[in-house]
Amino acid sequence: MTSERPQSPSFDAMPPVPPREQVESLVAASARIHGHLCSGQVIGVRMAILGLGLLGYPCPLPYPEIKNLVGVVESERCLSDAVAVASGLRFGRGSLKLVNLGLLAATFGEISSGRAVRLISREQARKLALDYAPQATNPHTAQTEAYMIMPNAELFDAAWVELKIPAHEMPGARPKKMACEQCGVLVRSGQAVRENGRTLCPVCAGRAYFNLGPNLEL
Ligand SMILES: [Zn+2]
Ligand SMILES: [Zn+2]
Repeated sequence: MTSERPQSPSFDAMPPVPPREQVESLVAASARIHGHLCSGQVIGVRMAILGLGLLGYPCPLPYPEIKNLVGVVESERCLSDAVAVASGLRFGRGSLKLVNLGLLAATFGEISSGRAVRLISREQARKLALDYAPQATNPHTAQTEAYMIMPNAELFDAAWVELKIPAHEMPGARPKKMACEQCGVLVRSGQAVRENGRTLCPVCAGRAYFNLGPNLEL
């Protein structure tokens, strides 16, 4: 870490609220893919705009700049779809990661510099929603409406962080495929397990997320 790195991200460097048209068009795009319009969509879109902005990037990310960014979402629900759609970062490209901590939080990192900023939704924002959307008929629409126009500093807490993603899981990494010495399958993405001097796939190493049933004839 360098000494000149700021201790906390400056909201001053960004407009307190991004342009309404930008938020609305990204929320609409995200709601189409997500299947409904919800406050989580707005939070995710606002996180993507702010997180990338604090790193000096526009949202959505243009090409080829997108190759220099990595994102992490900490919830597998509404927010993650919105962050993906708004930023352009993708699970299928390794540029977006899910680390399911059950938190309404996301981190955006610049690969070349190692700078990364983590944003977490403030609980107080829910209480403030009616102040920003007094005409709303229920708390749900109040939040969805209010989060479009609420200042960044009311919506989020932010901190610079140092990412601890292993090198083989960073976007662009091409770790060697390894054959499992027990079942023979090829293990990709650096996920092979070394156990008692043997190379195993995570399933043979007892790290499966399922219990195996009978094989099917196809
Ligand atoms: Zn949703
Ligand atoms: Zn195996």
